[in-house]
Amino acid sequence: MKSSFNPPVRTLMGPGPSDVSPRVLAAMARPTIGHLDPEFIRMMDEIKEMLQALFKTQSPLTMPVSAPGSAGMEACFVNLVEPGDKVVVCQNGVFGGRMKENVVRFGGEAIMVEDEWGKPVDLDKVEKALAENDNVKALAFVHAETSTGVRSDAESLCALAQKYGCLTIVDTVTSLGGIEVDMDGWGIDAIYSGTQKCLSCPPGISPVAFSEKAIEAVQARKTPVPSWFLDKNLVMGYWGGGGKRAYHHTAPVNSLYALHESLVMLHEEGLENAWARHQKHHNALRAGLEAMGINFLVDEECRLPQLNSVFVPEGIDEAEVRSRLLRDYNLEIGAGLGALAGKVWRIGLMGSACTRRNVMLCLAALENTLISMGAQINAGAAAQAAEAAYAE
Ligand SMILES: *Cc1c(COP(=O)(O)O)cnc(C)c1O
Repeated sequence: MKSSFNPPVRTLMGPGPSDVSPRVLAAMARPTIGHLDPEFIRMMDEIKEMLQALFKTQSPLTMPVSAPGSAGMEACFVNLVEPGDKVVVCQNGVFGGRMKENVVRFGGEAIMVEDEWGKPVDLDKVEKALAENDNVKALAFVHAETSTGVRSDAESLCALAQKYGCLTIVDTVTSLGGIEVDMDGWGIDAIYSGTQKCLSCPPGISPVAFSEKAIEAVQARKTPVPSWFLDKNLVMGYWGGGGKRAYHHTAPVNSLYALHESLVMLHEEGLENAWARHQKHHNALRAGLEAMGINFLVDEECRLPQLNSVFVPEGIDEAEVRSRLLRDYNLEIGAGLGALAGKVWRIGLMGSACTRRNVMLCLAALENTLISMGAQINAGAAAQAAEAAYAE
């Protein structure tokens, strides 16, 4: 006989999922109702309104896709890329590589603009790619590269796309809720995110929005969208306005209660206040880590406050540190990915996990663990440095 599964209570300071607040978990445990129930439809309309405010868009084509961030990515590419379409894809980490994979699988031609991992997308290289290739359909890039902790200049990249007359497809999975995102102001045409990073929901839902230009491009397709589930024309019959919903698929009812609650919490706090909170706790974490003698991978001006990539001290087995943190402190931090595996840790300060308590816990736990493993770090300085940053 199997018994109930009771997960340990962890502190989640990795690249996602992040800590989910008790309010969101409680919302998820409310009674399941029918997904075409008028009360459920009323809640769906509120989710849509709150997502529009979060993306900063007026677009009526804003909805949560019933699947994780990777499906939001796929929804954008499968609708917009037709066989033969040229897409300039920027890659400076793991997720840009997945964009390329999407373009190629839907029959498009990916024109790659590559930058070093840990550096932002280079605007000059993007402009060169757009100038040298005609009939580019879209420019695709990751706003906040979770594999490295880099923020690219989304506003300037979108301005370049407009100058050369192409659409923009932007990954905001890690940026949304943690730093500024302005879909309409910057001119983003297809945007997707995830619930388990700075929105602090359980994983499994992907907020997506399409601009009017993007929808025109979908309607002008010569071939049908090759995915039935992600075809925007069909999904919109379900999520579209007017209160009349046609059955498309069964919405993940309780997961949407969770998303609704997390959006209510974010609106109570205020978007600007949430961004400021991420910056404040990042400053304290940085002060503590640097006082310990630990260095950041990414230059300060393009560093994400919600994802801190730091170098593992010389001679230290990074996986052993992470397993000790989990075992001794119930604390999860992330490993390096791809080219950075074994070299860095990724410490997340996302959403509900972005608190003073977590910053101080992480600094103390990391310091104690590193000292017990014989690392050459400055002992005893981190907590005070972080407290000093808070006092500023
Ligand atoms: C996490 C992440 C994704 C994928 O989201 P899933 O929910 O894991 O599918 C895509 N892009 C970025 C930048 C991410 O951080």
